[in-house]
Amino acid sequence: MSTPLTSTVPTSTVPTSTVLTPTEVERYRRQMMLPGLGEAGQIQLKNTTALVTGVGGLGGTAALYLAVAGVGKLILVRGGDLQRDDLNRQVLMTDDWVGHPRVFKAQETLTKLNPDIEIEAVCEYVTDNNIDALLQPADIALDCAFDFKERDLLNAACVRQNKPMVEAAMNSMEAYLTTIVPGKTPCLTCLFPEKPTWDRWGFGVLGAVSGTLACLAALEAIKLITGLGEPLLGQLLTMDLARAEFAKRRPYHDPNCPVCGPAPRTLSAPLTMPIPVASC
Ligand SMILES: [Zn+2]
Repeated sequence: MSTPLTSTVPTSTVPTSTVLTPTEVERYRRQMMLPGLGEAGQIQLKNTTALVTGVGGLGGTAALYLAVAGVGKLILVRGGDLQRDDLNRQVLMTDDWVGHPRVFKAQETLTKLNPDIEIEAVCEYVTDNNIDALLQPADIALDCAFDFKERDLLNAACVRQNKPMVEAAMNSMEAYLTTIVPGKTPCLTCLFPEKPTWDRWGFGVLGAVSGTLACLAALEAIKLITGLGEPLLGQLLTMDLARAEFAKRRPYHDPNCPVCGPAPRTLSAPLTMPIPVASC
């Protein structure tokens, strides 16, 4: 069983709690019945801050399951306004919000779902100027960004700040998931050292596919935080959801990786991103 995250990365800005309120005990009763989670795991979730980059079909749905599970604080980061063609997968959004910033609707929906947690909404894209400040208050990051420029910036920041990152990406009916712990597992650059040009028009996506990946990403974070089960450390889960085929692979941990290797480079130059696996 993994070591609970909060015992090793005590940087959360959430005030440390040692007890649950009666409302929290009632709200989380069914999941606390799980062996390996229990009240102790629930308190660890309560004391955790998670950064989620992206609030689309992937990030928004992952944030939903972190929120209802009781992660104490979520920091949601995404610039841009809701488009009507987002609505086939972005389950935190509503039709009357088209044309308005997605991240604030995500904050509103999640707050209604679980008023016991804190949701911070940041209406910005991830850049090399803001990523370190965004990550600093967080104990864990979920990489659900819409392109690999943002993904690589978050990966490098997680390596710099020694924080775990759940990496979830998809392309059409295929999805990829792993959990990166700096110093212990390959980082995102080890996994994908070369990235082909991103199709700026995006790819076909079905909400049930992004939602499936999002649920698994949220589960990875919950496992890492609480010690429940076994997270995908150093393993890449590949999913062909058109054929319902799942496989685990051991990605190469590059000893000379420019990001997590012995002589890391600063990733400040524009990157020729991204690989055809991005979120939505
Ligand atoms: Zn690396």
